[in-house]
Amino acid sequence: MDAADPLRCKRAEFHVPEGVIYLDGNSLGLLPVSVKDRVAETVENEWGNSLIRAWNSHSWMDLPEKVGAKIAKLIGAEEGTVVSVDTTSLNVAKAVSAAMALNPERKVILTDNGNFPTDIYMAQGIADLVDKGHEVRIVNPQDVYEALDETIAVMMITQVDYRTGRRHNMKQLTERAHAVGAITVWDLAHSAGAFEVDLTSCNVDLAVGCTYKYFNGGPGAPAFIYVAPRHQDNIKPILSGWIGHKAPFAFELGYQPAEGIKRMNVGTPPVIALSALDAALDVWVDVDMSEVRMKSVALSELFIAEVESRCTQFGLTLASPRDADSRGSQVSFRCPDGYAVMQALIAEGIIGDFRAPDIIRFGFTPLYLGYEDVLNATKKLEEILRSEVWREPAFMKREKVT
Ligand SMILES: *Cc1c(COP(=O)(O)O)cnc(C)c1O
Repeated sequence: MDAADPLRCKRAEFHVPEGVIYLDGNSLGLLPVSVKDRVAETVENEWGNSLIRAWNSHSWMDLPEKVGAKIAKLIGAEEGTVVSVDTTSLNVAKAVSAAMALNPERKVILTDNGNFPTDIYMAQGIADLVDKGHEVRIVNPQDVYEALDETIAVMMITQVDYRTGRRHNMKQLTERAHAVGAITVWDLAHSAGAFEVDLTSCNVDLAVGCTYKYFNGGPGAPAFIYVAPRHQDNIKPILSGWIGHKAPFAFELGYQPAEGIKRMNVGTPPVIALSALDAALDVWVDVDMSEVRMKSVALSELFIAEVESRCTQFGLTLASPRDADSRGSQVSFRCPDGYAVMQALIAEGIIGDFRAPDIIRFGFTPLYLGYEDVLNATKKLEEILRSEVWREPAFMKREKVT
């Protein structure tokens, strides 16, 4: 199967550590080889030699929009709708507050309990700060559609559940939200770079997402925010920083937002991190996202079939939806003593991760994973479960990051 894989050649563009099968690209993507040179160039030449002149000579100030434009192409967004700034958490706060202000008569922010906690925490924090009686309403993922009624100001949804990989239907929920007059905020943390996203045809209002996952931008890489063209000039950013000002270097005492998407900037761009991300995104220029999706489904289906034939006797059960159309690009299994089992697997170079209470999670990143990798990983998982090496005390010790 690997021989017939049209994406096979992409693997050479990544640094794949010796002896590692990496099934955690949904949490932190591999290092693209080109990033090393780019970061060295940015540090040694641009910063080292050009110093402050580089803001102009190397267009440092344009990086949030330049990188945003590359991301826009990969998520079905129009030109001038995305900037790469801040963290996903901060962008959630910016997007939700903007969405609340676009729908001022209503007071409910609707989300679901499959959302990543930071999104919910940020929405609650914004509701408290704004102090106009907003409520964050949390329902089951399968109940979001029904919960959309004329009281909802904002539907804030993460498309793919970080634990199970369950995927919401973006088009259907957005349509329903608009039918009842709600503004939509989509979090694409586990969507962007994982499969085809088409914000324009889904008519999404605002979106945010991560770049250190499937986009391989590096640990803590700048996130992104999307605002549909129809809303851009109606948003007064809650974080009204000088880089989002109409004329930052006029140093006026009053805030006036920049035109369009630029106003979603807040402070000075993190140039080294943005340069790394800029280079990382070039890996995608010749990639067809529908091929990525096809291979992701094939890898995931193979993984599920192998784990189920080898490991169900040890108590593993599929925690992800069985139907590929309802999944993102990860597969999770419930596994008794899952933490220790994952630690034992990692000790063998098979890197996935664990999410409490009992989920072992595996991400499938078609640009650098092959079918052989999946077969080898599942064989190793079976060996670990059969031999019970995971019972060693060293594998039970909990680290800070799981
Ligand atoms: C990974 C992830 C985040 C991470 O937020 P940071 O601010 O980058 O720490 C936020 N939301 C979701 C849904 C995620 O999956």
